[in-house]
Amino acid sequence: MQVIPPALERVIEDLAKLPGIGKKTATRLALNILRRPPGYAHELSEALQELHASIQLCSCCFTFSESDPCAICSDPKRDGSLVCVVEEPGDLMAIEKTSSFRGHYHILHGVLSPIDGIGPDELKIRELIARISNGSVNEILIATSSTVPGEATASYLIDLLATGPVKLTRLACGIPMGMDIKYADKHTLARAIESRSSAK
Ligand code: ZN
Repeated sequence: MQVIPPALERVIEDLAKLPGIGKKTATRLALNILRRPPGYAHELSEALQELHASIQLCSCCFTFSESDPCAICSDPKRDGSLVCVVEEPGDLMAIEKTSSFRGHYHILHGVLSPIDGIGPDELKIRELIARISNGSVNEILIATSSTVPGEATASYLIDLLATGPVKLTRLACGIPMGMDIKYADKHTLARAIESRSSAK
């Protein structure tokens, strides 16, 4: 006998594929959706479909954006000679919330993790080198998380760019070891950006 109706099971399995959502949470969320009026599920599915229909990667910084180039890359008031390198679009959002960074970004879309088969070619590192080689970048602020893979990625970038013409800086101390910068409080993050230190 099928205990869970297949339509419900499908939603639970799809939700459980998301990071941080186990089978138990997925079941709770699916049941919660089911208890609401049908309009909610309809609206949610429309919003999810809209994600891919209207959002793309900015071809300059690789963040998710409704326009290409994104609003940050195309803002004439921002300093394109200063580029902050982050792991994920969520890190960009965390830094933007501090209102203390007026440069551009470069999203790596991950961190080096040989165990998971993620090497430099899987990240947007080639694209970063291309941005630097067109001569418009003076400073690269490396803002990867202070986790082990985040640090390994920062070291790789510092080695790679050490002999190049750009100034390399890193976020100052203040971000606790092991912390993902998305979760740092905005004042700590703002201070870490303002007092960034040279990395070479
Ligand atoms: Zn952009």
